[in-house]
Parts: sequence; structure tokens; C-alpha cells
Amino acid sequence: MLKQEQILEIFEDSGALLHGHFRLTSGRHSGEYIQCAQVLQYPEYTEALCEHMAESFVDDDVDLVIGPAMGGVTLSYEMARQLGVASLFTERVDNKMLLRRNFYIPEGARVLVVEDVTTTGGSIREVIELVRAAGGVVVGTAVLVDRTNGELDLGVDKSVSALSLSVQSFEPDACPLCQEGLPIEKPGSRKE
Ligand SMILES: [Zn+2]
Repeated sequence: MLKQEQILEIFEDSGALLHGHFRLTSGRHSGEYIQCAQVLQYPEYTEALCEHMAESFVDDDVDLVIGPAMGGVTLSYEMARQLGVASLFTERVDNKMLLRRNFYIPEGARVLVVEDVTTTGGSIREVIELVRAAGGVVVGTAVLVDRTNGELDLGVDKSVSALSLSVQSFEPDACPLCQEGLPIEKPGSRKE
């Protein structure tokens, strides 16, 4: 098992977790910015983080792993590789979460649902519903970054995350970082 400090170090070293003063795509401001693709681009980091989470599911007789595209694809693949099972992914088409490409969930299959980052849990909930509607059994969820700091209840028996954080964001006119006069940056504009 990795220690929480080691996990934080992986996220910071890879540029997946930035500290500063950011304008998010929502227009809100935040002192932290998370971009999971930055850590998932490194197979050795992905392997270590998935190994950390997969340990919780080795005795659960998982039949397959599934996650929502794009963020869940790499994660699903590496979790599945470590558990020695198949990796599927769902896709959102016209705002509906679907299983495409002839992917199939057998009746009674024991399924681990994964996601890169959860804030409201919208996508992962839709995947859980899709699995259940297909007759699969959701054994649990594994989320790389839980931005709700463990507050999110996905209605499953076992939920694990590699990193659990509460990321605060502010309306621009109520942003304490603006009030401190800290220059704002758009995530990804930083050269390091
Ligand atoms: Zn601000």
C-alpha cells in the first residue's frame, strides 16, 4: 500500500495536482487544480495507483472492470490488468451513457466500476445504473481522485479512492485569493 504522502507526491510530481490561483472552466476560482490525465500519462504511476486501489478488490471475485470514457478508459484497463479480468468502457452519446462496440455485461457478472475523478459523481452513477440494468452486480467503485473528501455516497458496498480531497472553489467576487492579490492563471498555461 502506498502512503497518502506518496500518493500526493505522485499527483504533484506529474502535474496532476497544481497549487496556485486558477480560473476553472466553470468560471469559478480555486487554489487547486486537478487534471487526472497528467498522472495517467505515466504508466508507472498509473500502475502504482491502481495496484494501491486493486488490493481492496482481490478477494471480490471481480469478473470485469468498467469506467466512463475518456477518463475511465486508462484506469479501467490498468485495474483490469491487475485483477486479471476484462476491461470495458461506456460512452456518452446525446447525453446518455451507453455500452457500445459490442461490449456486453453477462447476467450476474461481478463488476468493479472505476472513474478518474468524482465531484458530483454524475458519470459514475450512470455507469453503476447501466451495469445493474444489464443484470450485473456492482461489487464496488474505485476512484482515482475523490474531490468530495469521502462525502460522496454512490450506494455501493465498497468505495475506494487513491486520493481524497475537498477542493474549494469560489465565485470570482468572493475569492480570497483575488483579495490577496494573487495573480490568476488558466490551468495548463504554467511552464515548469
Ligand atoms: Zn480568484
